[in-house]
Amino acid sequence: AALGSVLCAVLAMVGASLFQRRFASLDVRIRRALKSGAFEPHYQPIVDIRTGRIAGCEVLMRWRRPDGVLIPPSEFIDKAEATGLILPMTDQIMRRAAEELRDVCAANPEFRLAFNLVDSHFDSFKIVTTIETIFDRLAIPLHHVSVEVTERRPLKNVERARIVIRRLQSIGVKVALDDVGTGHSGLAHLQQLGVDTIKIDKFFIDVIAKDGSGSPFVESLVSIAHRLGMDVVAEGVETYDQLLYLRERGVQKAQGYLFGRPVPKSEFIALMERAAGP
Ligand code: C2E
Ligand code: CA
Ligand code: CA
Ligand code: CA
Repeated sequence: AALGSVLCAVLAMVGASLFQRRFASLDVRIRRALKSGAFEPHYQPIVDIRTGRIAGCEVLMRWRRPDGVLIPPSEFIDKAEATGLILPMTDQIMRRAAEELRDVCAANPEFRLAFNLVDSHFDSFKIVTTIETIFDRLAIPLHHVSVEVTERRPLKNVERARIVIRRLQSIGVKVALDDVGTGHSGLAHLQQLGVDTIKIDKFFIDVIAKDGSGSPFVESLVSIAHRLGMDVVAEGVETYDQLLYLRERGVQKAQGYLFGRPVPKSEFIALMERAAGP
């Protein structure tokens, strides 16, 4: 009987830990993944469509499960934002990306890494110090860095965000407004935030149909951006016709499966080497 109850207790313990591993709530699992370094940066090329050269990359987060499977951000970014865990996750991804692409920056003076930030990054100047610390330590000049602030969700405090954006710009970091056209802010942020670049969301690029028919929305956005002295990046470019259409309308840069999907370090470095090769 004694043996039986010990067995039961052991089984219960094993059961509980298995249960926890499998069914622990998402924020507990995110915390654990953060500790074990399971979030990794993937890199998607951003191409200067006037020259065909790779101008930089967007850093996109992936969660590597112990079995090797990659979990996309759609499954954890919202929770990470809601819990504030996105802040240490961003620090970790920045540090890792800077280490991994240090040589790429050294070999390509114009190359920029673009990081996605969230609203709470604009609550204070902490993000400015974080970026300075990470890149200074690796002796990477800050003209290799840009950040993206999304328009998809409303900013809590636009005035404060604008001040943080100015400070970032003053140290050489470029700032892009992401997912333009998808948020609730209309064109207000474009004027207020003083960003350097706008990224037109894939949604509007998709409208440039495969048959090359145009999109008045894209044309208007490009013309407004250019009048405000901003650069334009088109997201989600998948076809050559879209590329031609955008180039004819003076769009400087584009990103999308036509040029390359987000890939881990080794593949991205190989891509850069092929691009530089004869
Ligand atoms: P986003 O910032 O708009 O990033 C672009 C997304 O579009 C990426 O999805 C990219 O893989 C995808 N994409 C690029 N080109 C194409 C294309 O030609 N066709 C299609 N179908 N898709 C394309 P991903 O990597 O799944 O990321 C989704 C979102 O998750 C991002 O959207 C961004 O909002 C968020 N995210 C990703 N990494 C981070 C991060 O490190 N921090 C934060 N705060 N958010 C992140
Ligand atoms: Ca982005
Ligand atoms: Ca985007
Ligand atoms: Ca998008």
